[in-house]
Amino acid sequence: MIKINENYLKLQASYLFAEIKNKTAAYQAAHPEKEVIKLGIGDVTRPLPQACIQAFHRAVDEMADAKTFRGYGPEQGYAFLRDKIAHHNFQSRGLDISPDEIFVSDGAKCDNGNIQEIFATDIKIAIPDPVYPVYVDTNVMAGRTGSFNRGRYDGIVYLEGKQENGFIPDLPQEKVDLIYLCYPNNPSGATITKSALKEWVDFARDNKALILYDAAYESFIRNDELPKSIFEIEGAREVAIEFRSFSKTAGFTGIRCAYTVVPKSCIAYTGDGAKQYLHALWYRRHSTKFNGVSYPVQKAAEAVYSEEGKLQTKELIDYYLKNAALIRREMASLGFDCIGGGNSPYIWINGRSESWKFFDLLLEKAAVVCTPGVGFGKCGEGYIRISAFNDYDKVGEAMARIKEALRA
Ligand code: PLP
Repeated sequence: MIKINENYLKLQASYLFAEIKNKTAAYQAAHPEKEVIKLGIGDVTRPLPQACIQAFHRAVDEMADAKTFRGYGPEQGYAFLRDKIAHHNFQSRGLDISPDEIFVSDGAKCDNGNIQEIFATDIKIAIPDPVYPVYVDTNVMAGRTGSFNRGRYDGIVYLEGKQENGFIPDLPQEKVDLIYLCYPNNPSGATITKSALKEWVDFARDNKALILYDAAYESFIRNDELPKSIFEIEGAREVAIEFRSFSKTAGFTGIRCAYTVVPKSCIAYTGDGAKQYLHALWYRRHSTKFNGVSYPVQKAAEAVYSEEGKLQTKELIDYYLKNAALIRREMASLGFDCIGGGNSPYIWINGRSESWKFFDLLLEKAAVVCTPGVGFGKCGEGYIRISAFNDYDKVGEAMARIKEALRA
C-alpha cells in the first residue's frame, strides 16, 4: 500500500492570498466602474533592466549556434556568475566569501525550503512571527512540528515580533538548534542593526545552533550602517547560511535566479556530537537533485554586475523606495504607526483594528488592496502590509483615496 507523508495533512490551507483574491473579485463585480489598486502581493511590476535583457538575448543567440551552444552547465552555477557575486557582493565589501561558497539556484524560496533536508528531523526550530510562510510550512512537511493548535504549530519556538521590540524578536529563552531570520523583513519591513544581529550570531555560537539568514531584500538597504549580509558580523561564517535572490534586486521574479551562501567553515553536528561541514552536504544535495539554472538566465544575472547593470538596478530599487517613502509618509500623516519602507519595499502598519477589518475598509472605501498582517502569523493581527511594488502614479492615487476615505 502506497502511504502518504502524513505531515502534509497538518498543513493549514494557505487561504491568505486566495481570500484576498476572492474579496477583491467580489468587490470588482459589485463595482465594475472602480479601478482597484493592488498593493498586496510582493511581486515586482517594473521591466527587467536593459543590461539584463541584452545579455539574455545574446545568450539565447549563442544557443542557436553549434559553436557556442551549451547543454548542462555546472550544478553549482557558472563560474562567471559566482565570481561576480563573490566579488561585488562580498569581497569588495571586505567580506570573506569565495565563489565556491556560492550556490546558484532558481529561487530563494526553493533554497529556503530545500536546505532543511540536510538537518535532522528532531532539531528544535525557532521561527519569527509574523513570518514569510515558507519557513514554517516546509518544516511542517518535514515532520519537525506537531499539529496546529489555536493558530500555531506545536513544537516550533515562535520568535514574537511586536510594536515594543520593533518587530526584531528577542533571543529565545530556551535552547534552539535552527533559527530563521529575515532582514529587511517580509512582512514587517523591519531592518536589523549590526549590534542586534551580533547578539543572534553569539547566541548561535554559544548554543551550537545555526542561523538561516534570508537576505532576499538586501538591495533595498540604503543606510550604510545596516548590515546587508550576516557575514558582516564577526563569527557568522561558522554559524550562518545566507539566501539571496535576483528576484527583487533586478526584477527576476519571473526569470528565476537566486543563490545561497554556505561558508566552508559552517558547521553542524552528527548525533554523537562530531563536527560536520555543511558545505559538503549542501554541495551533495544541490548537485544530486538540481541541474543548474539555464545559461541565458545566468548571463542575464551576470549583467546585474556590469556598470550599466549596477546603475539600472539601483534605479529600479530607487523607484520602489520612492513608492515606499510615499506610502509611509501618507500613512504616518494619518496617524498610523508604521514600520519599514526606508530600507525595504514593505510598510507594516498598525491599523488599530483587526487586520481583515482594516483590509475590508480599504477595499470598500478606497478600492485599494493590501495584505492583512494576521495572514503572516498570530503576531500580525492588527496590522496590514502595504507593498511598494507598483507604479508611482498608482501608489499616489491609492494614498489619495485612502486619505479621503479615512478622513470622511
Ligand atoms: N524570501 C523572502 C523573504 C521573500 O519574501 C521571497 C519572495 O517574496 C522569497 C524569499 C522568494 O524569493 P525567490 O523569488 O528567489 O524564490
